[in-house]
Amino acid sequence: AKEQGRNTFRFYSSDMHASALELLTLSSYLRHALERDELYLVYQPQIRLVTGEMVGVEALLRWKHPDLGVIAPDRFIPLAEETGLIVPIGTWALKEACFQAAQWISRGLPPMRVAVNLSAKQFRNPGLVATVRTALEQSGLPAHLLELELTEGMLIENIASTHETLKALKAMGVTLAIDDFGTGYSSLSYLKHFPLDRLKIDKSFVLEMAEKSGDSAAIVQAIIALAHSLKLTVIAEGVERQDQVAFLKQHCCDEMQGFFFSRPLKSEALEELLQKCMQG
Ligand code: C2E
Ligand code: CA
Ligand code: CA
Ligand code: CA
Repeated sequence: AKEQGRNTFRFYSSDMHASALELLTLSSYLRHALERDELYLVYQPQIRLVTGEMVGVEALLRWKHPDLGVIAPDRFIPLAEETGLIVPIGTWALKEACFQAAQWISRGLPPMRVAVNLSAKQFRNPGLVATVRTALEQSGLPAHLLELELTEGMLIENIASTHETLKALKAMGVTLAIDDFGTGYSSLSYLKHFPLDRLKIDKSFVLEMAEKSGDSAAIVQAIIALAHSLKLTVIAEGVERQDQVAFLKQHCCDEMQGFFFSRPLKSEALEELLQKCMQG
């Protein structure tokens, strides 16, 4: 590229061409991922801080391509969102999570809440409420054990229709959490108008909590206080160390999720962990 010297246009244009081609390839692979059974879910435990018991799991998508290996969701979810593939993929993930959670119960394991991430396109899709209802009916999972994770940005986009959708979901009995809380829009007024259940403190604050500056610790404390004053429960994500656990306990955070307790696990491994927890 250097010898092209001043011809920066050609440099950038060929560079962009390569990455566009890569994206095109990835999206055509992604188109087939569902039908070829290349997608699966992993489950990360959520722990109640005062008792140490596992109260839920978050379902996280994985894509294992036969040649490319495991592709992280940060690479393919934005692509799926752009191409609209997120709607069928998200529907699959929702059903899969509900069936898995119902299966754990039918095997005698303690009932676990299962949290499923929704993308913006999925949330705005008019079929969403029916899709959720179908997933619950077909799996037999009690609605109160399904949690949907939304982000702040999704909520404020069209307040009126957002409110309708959230009301319909709540009427079904599912719970609603705000993911990555604190990183999105600064308007907090929506919090008291929408029928929410839980705030998830974004891991960026949790990871920096113990740092000298103290800003993140102050933010974490403020989010916990805010949640409680609005009668919402609060969960911290990205908990990796004992000192973070201690801090969260001290400030009355309700739940935690992170590598400290467990990485996201395949369903069989999570089931084993649940069995062990039951034995004491
Ligand atoms: P997220 O919803 O914020 O999920 C939490 C991410 O943090 C997960 O990354 C998880 O593996 C990671 N994590 C968990 N504990 C720790 C920890 O202690 N330290 C650190 N550094 N990270 C931790 P993952 O699985 O790579 O997912 C990335 C993002 O992809 C998710 O962020 C979510 O936005 C999106 N995603 C994943 N599955 C789905 C899905 O089914 N549907 C949609 N729409 N998005 C999904
Ligand atoms: Ca999430
Ligand atoms: Ca998150
Ligand atoms: Ca996220």
